[in-house]
Amino acid sequence: MNKIVEFILDLIYPPKCAFCRKLIGTGHEGLCPECTEKLPRLSGTDAKSLLEDGTLCYSALRYDQMVRDSFLRYKFYGSVSYADTYSRLMAECLKETAAGIDIVTWVPLSRKRKRKRGYDQAELLANGTSLLLGLDCKGILYKNKETKAQSLTKSRNERKSNIKGAYTLRKEADIKGKKIIIVDDIITTGATLSECCAVLKKAGAASVTAATFAKAAR
Ligand SMILES: [Zn+2]
Repeated sequence: MNKIVEFILDLIYPPKCAFCRKLIGTGHEGLCPECTEKLPRLSGTDAKSLLEDGTLCYSALRYDQMVRDSFLRYKFYGSVSYADTYSRLMAECLKETAAGIDIVTWVPLSRKRKRKRGYDQAELLANGTSLLLGLDCKGILYKNKETKAQSLTKSRNERKSNIKGAYTLRKEADIKGKKIIIVDDIITTGATLSECCAVLKKAGAASVTAATFAKAAR
């Protein structure tokens, strides 16, 4: 961006930390020094979850209170600029996993939900992360039915049946032999991601890896 435009934008919208919302100078990439220290980053086996369909999922952060507060502003209150900060954390977490990957994609919202919200929060993360990793980002799936929020389901079986068949391959998607990373925002039980990964594998993907911004306690 033009330096002058950037300067003026900073005056109108002073950059704030995506987590604690303190004012920060430019060049901090949306993260203040205190939060950089404090963020509940995950690494090693803590960062990994095994999905029911056998796919490995990597998560950048633990979904604790500071992450949750920030994330809800991002998902429901239009703080879309957080996608850059979140993507940086995700790219950091995925840098070793990204070798040899052909496509980064995401768990999509239904068309109706996306229209209502104005953006798809997982798509923004997939875009940002792929850009930082130097990978292609493509939409592969679409959501063909409105489902109840997974958080409102009561049992594992209900979660599974709620999401069953909700995602379909886009007509133009050809993923035979491709190595794919699929991005979602938060992993809780992993039922949604597992369903999507199964669709990708069935369509002939050579390998599927899942990645989320944060991991909630099950
Ligand atoms: Zn902060």
